[in-house]
Amino acid sequence: MKIHILGCGSATPSLKHMPSCQVVEHNTHLYMIDCGEGAQLGMRKAGLKFSRLCCIFISHLHGDHVLGLPGLLSTLALHDFNGTVHVYMQQKGIDVIKACLDTFSHEPQYTLVFHPIGIEQTVIYEDDALTVETFPMPHTTPAVGFIFREKQKPRPLRGDMLEYYNVPIRERAAIKEGADFVDADGKVIPNKWLTTDPAPARSYAYASDTMKSQAVTRAVSGVDTLFHEATYADDKASVARDRGHSTARQAGQCAAAANVGKLVIGHFSKQYAADESVLLNQAREEFANTTLAREGLTFDA
Ligand SMILES: [Zn+2]
Repeated sequence: MKIHILGCGSATPSLKHMPSCQVVEHNTHLYMIDCGEGAQLGMRKAGLKFSRLCCIFISHLHGDHVLGLPGLLSTLALHDFNGTVHVYMQQKGIDVIKACLDTFSHEPQYTLVFHPIGIEQTVIYEDDALTVETFPMPHTTPAVGFIFREKQKPRPLRGDMLEYYNVPIRERAAIKEGADFVDADGKVIPNKWLTTDPAPARSYAYASDTMKSQAVTRAVSGVDTLFHEATYADDKASVARDRGHSTARQAGQCAAAANVGKLVIGHFSKQYAADESVLLNQAREEFANTTLAREGLTFDA
């Protein structure tokens, strides 16, 4: 599970950052989280093909998280893309985007499916390889974060041992799922002799935009990687609270209390554009394994 940061600025434009947008790449699929203006340019710069996009998840209905959608969805209609794109967002946003597309978009050759979401903690998406769940975030408008969880992968087979024990092909699917093998003489060959351990299933949580919150900390508890907004530094803690945002230190405190593997901070206010090290340093005082997001950054969950 690889994450591409396409935009990690906050609402006011700066020359340094694009508005919120990132893409989770998993197997052949791309899952977009938030879709600020410039999302389609961000995909181009990151070398991510539109045709691989399968889902778009919108955290809340503030413009810097959603106004890239009409452009991106219109562009898909111009291409030979004839797959299906699923958009998960609050109903009020769906109504507006549909009206936009009716007015501005070409006749789409692809299938666009809208899924209204609420703000409760629940699984909203599942396929063979992963699930996506929402969790509520306190902000100035109803908002949810997202957690991507890989499913446990099948156990890789050991070709040499399958050959040695003469394991028929019809038995192999069950062995990948952990079954032992019983040979023609009734002898049990333990699964661990026939397989190796799969790579561990990974998890990735996205928390933006949100105030500091124990509920958010509980929701993201134990994930491998947490993206948490860090709009302001300590000196603007009261501004952060008034505007429904977090400071970098609060992001670090959340990561530490939630015992996550690593923290990536973003959604930076433009006032730090010249030097964001103050945000990084304050987050690291709470949680050492912290990285600053930037456009073009990719990392494994
Ligand atoms: Zn917001």
